[in-house]
Amino acid sequence: MQKEIIMTDKIELIGLSKEELAEAIAEIGEKPFRVKQVWQWLYHHGVTDFEKMSNLSKDLRAKLAEKFTITRPKIVAEQISADKTHKWLLEFADGQRIETVYIPEEDRGTVCISTQVGCAVGCTFCHTGSQKITRNLTAGEIVSQFLVARDAYNEWPTPTDEVRHLSNIVVMGMGEPLHNKENTFKALKILSDGDGVAISRRKITLSTSGIVPHIAEVASELGCRLAVSLHASNNELRTRIMPINKKYPIEDILTACQEFQRRAGSCKYITFEYLLLNGLNDSLENAHELVDLMKKYKIDAKFNLIPFNPWPGCDYQPSSKNRAMAFSKELGKFGYAAPIRVARGQDILAACGQLKSKKEQEK
Ligand code: SAH
Ligand code: SF4
Repeated sequence: MQKEIIMTDKIELIGLSKEELAEAIAEIGEKPFRVKQVWQWLYHHGVTDFEKMSNLSKDLRAKLAEKFTITRPKIVAEQISADKTHKWLLEFADGQRIETVYIPEEDRGTVCISTQVGCAVGCTFCHTGSQKITRNLTAGEIVSQFLVARDAYNEWPTPTDEVRHLSNIVVMGMGEPLHNKENTFKALKILSDGDGVAISRRKITLSTSGIVPHIAEVASELGCRLAVSLHASNNELRTRIMPINKKYPIEDILTACQEFQRRAGSCKYITFEYLLLNGLNDSLENAHELVDLMKKYKIDAKFNLIPFNPWPGCDYQPSSKNRAMAFSKELGKFGYAAPIRVARGQDILAACGQLKSKKEQEK
């Protein structure tokens, strides 16, 4: 719990597990039934002011305010694109900044959250990867990104599943979640808790560049969906665009994916993200290599083909429309769904890390 304590000696409540909250409540001499009440105020009603906790006595509210804090990150910048994609640049107590994005769709809405400031994986196509790693986010900082989005759409108290604008979470923002496993898992457990924010684990997808030792734990410790950033169909190519492939090559990743599927139950399907880079990884031969891999390792897979989003200083080219369509169709012929993701928020620098860079240049 030490980590959650900020400058003051007050304890930050956002990001404590239910067990840690119970400890904190016990330490100030309050009865266990208060734990659920406070939890609901934090995560069902979304209050940030102890005074609003109306089923607690005035004395207790004052006591809580004296011992604890409820903090949201500061919104440094905010943009809404023509297609309603909403992006926040958020700043934490130590001045570090990350991005959070909300992507509305017809029948649902997805909040894309970050897990680190920067990233140590260093994929050659990724803007965040070019920023190196500064630090991990705490569980509270990960949780609070979703809370900021809920504040913005005034989706408090937690609505029933059917009417939610913010229905899904993808851990696809800045950072490698499995390099910050403990805080990421803790945060996702808080966000999926039925007494609070209550996002079902089936509606949460964690995306990883393939940190082999932790892949199966996403099923057994968390039970959410898994996406793997594959981006290449053989090791030679993958190592070129994702140097981490030297450490965790394709065979090891797919073996870990088999174990994930053994443990996963109803969240078995794995989405493989595949960035389309013109003339580099988007030939029919590449598609056939992918099919062979999935068959060899007997993976229940679907592909998510991602148009490369260019940024200054990066030399890759996005695949042409024709090549992208042919690639998608070829995977389809072998029974693998492979939709090409629609690029969202193009007018607001929605590619991961770009709003942050723009603000830094302005500074
Ligand atoms: N680190 C994790 C999760 C965050 S990155 C991972 O790599 O899976 C999430 C996704 O952003 C990755 O699949 C990556 O392909 C995508 N991405 C990164 N840079 C991109 C770019 N320039 N254009 C399009 N997608 C990009
Ligand atoms: Fe890190 Fe993911 Fe970017 Fe690779 S794609 S550098 S793993 S954030």
